[in-house]
Amino acid sequence: MGKKVAVLGGGFAGLSAASIMAKNGFDVSLFEKNADVGGRARKFEKDGFSFDMGPTWYWMPDIIEDFFQIFGKSTSDYFELQRLDPSYRVFFGKNDFLDIPSSLDEIINLFENLEKGAGANLRKYLREAEYKYTVGLKEFAFKPALSIVEFFDWRLISSAFKLHMFKPFSSYVRKHFKHPYLIQLVEFHVLFLGAKPQNTPALFSLMSYADYALGTWYPVGGMNKIAQAMQSIAEMTGVKIKTNENIESINVTSGTVSSVTSNGVNYDVDAVIASLDYQHVDQKLLSSEHSSYSKKYWETRKLAPSCLIFHLALDKKIDNLQHHNLFFDADFQKHAEEIYDRPQWPENPLFYVCCPTLTDHTLAPEGKEVLFLLIPVAVGLDDNEETREKYLKLLLQRLTVHTGEDISKHILFKRSYAHKEFINDYNSFKGNAYGLANTLMQTSIFKPKIKSKKLKNLYFAGQLTVPGPGIPPAIISGQIAAGLATKEMKAK
Ligand SMILES: Cc1cc2nc3c(=O)[nH]c(=O)nc-3n(C[C@H](O)[C@H](O)[C@H](O)COP(=O)(O)OP(=O)(O)OC[C@H]3O[C@@H](n4cnc5c(N)ncnc54)[C@H](O)[C@@H]3O)c2cc1C
Repeated sequence: MGKKVAVLGGGFAGLSAASIMAKNGFDVSLFEKNADVGGRARKFEKDGFSFDMGPTWYWMPDIIEDFFQIFGKSTSDYFELQRLDPSYRVFFGKNDFLDIPSSLDEIINLFENLEKGAGANLRKYLREAEYKYTVGLKEFAFKPALSIVEFFDWRLISSAFKLHMFKPFSSYVRKHFKHPYLIQLVEFHVLFLGAKPQNTPALFSLMSYADYALGTWYPVGGMNKIAQAMQSIAEMTGVKIKTNENIESINVTSGTVSSVTSNGVNYDVDAVIASLDYQHVDQKLLSSEHSSYSKKYWETRKLAPSCLIFHLALDKKIDNLQHHNLFFDADFQKHAEEIYDRPQWPENPLFYVCCPTLTDHTLAPEGKEVLFLLIPVAVGLDDNEETREKYLKLLLQRLTVHTGEDISKHILFKRSYAHKEFINDYNSFKGNAYGLANTLMQTSIFKPKIKSKKLKNLYFAGQLTVPGPGIPPAIISGQIAAGLATKEMKAK
């Protein structure tokens, strides 16, 4: 039998790391605290309705496909992917919305119609974004980023400038587009996932390439299908998946991790890849002498938002929505400030609604609808039932304006999910949904390291280390951690 590796956490990062370690010949056990793997992408089912609990946007299909190819498989062996057209709808006000088509030529026309010259500017913008996607995400992002030395290669150094690592995203966007709708269209990805556009490197325009050129997809059955498929890959490679196993400590003997403790039982290990929230591992599972970072370090990190989510089961179909809907009928800048600068419950938030039953009839009984409502909010807020009810009422009022009917009369049941659940379910630091904010000082070599600074057989994966939040990056982080662990363990 190969050396024993414990992978802690069964989200995308843990499933990815575990499968690769098992393929590389190690004896791998994956310990997951919850009853199911999938982490933030679990699903919840009730009365014939099925809800994705976290991610709803299937972007960067090539990166997800590449992972399955490593094992001689394809995503199509596990689920059917549909490309959404339109990709999504953006509401700017009453009877004022744009549908973003799946055809790039049509998107370019849409930009040109709103602002003369914006079509050509979008072509240029996307050419640069394609370079960032190809080099930034497919080369840089696969490096462990333990040291700047990894990037000492002339092609990569010259690339750093073309990647716009040091340019603020907001001014870069405004050089190309003036129309406020267009600015919001290209900036929304970073607001929802990471930081204010002013504090984000222009590198992240790669998200527009992913969106407009590669498309928005949907796996029939829901996003949790990706996690189920990755679970099958892990099992196929021989990973022993242990659910309901809450890791309580990582134990060290003579400077190396010797075991992990779950539910009071010690498991001997030769190495550990911890893929749950980094801060929890560093500050709670390790004794302080073995932590890589201080309490102060963690307190000074800028976190990506948390969110307040509502799952609603409706007794009928509703009109005037698409599969994905963004509600930008409020002040974008003010909401961003309420998330990042003056953390507080937002006065009049932007929000997002997913209506997956428009694409997928398997998710609800016939004639009924599943709705997923999400407001990005600051981390660390005190949330209670009263606050949640206030926001649900507000969102339903705004939805009534746009859909033309009072949805509140058609709710069969509802469920909310926010900071408290993120902490209880995932040991999330301050209730974050998406890890660390994508600021320059928290990108690549500046992120919490994929390898422990103190313990030579402890590695990290997941959305708080490189390359960052999102399904494709979480899968990549598992690949990086497993690649590094394999190299170092085989060298011994
Ligand atoms: C609401 C929401 C919407 C999102 N939308 C999108 C989207 O549309 N598209 C996209 O690409 N990305 C999206 N994301 C981001 C994406 O879901 C995450 O980046 C990704 O799922 C993180 O995976 P992970 O493996 O790093 O972490 P996690 O999914 O958090 O996995 C960590 C696992 O560790 C387990 N764990 C925690 N503590 C312990 C312990 N002590 N012992 C054992 N196990 C433990 C947890 O239960 C969890 O299963 C969204 C995230 C959220 C929350």
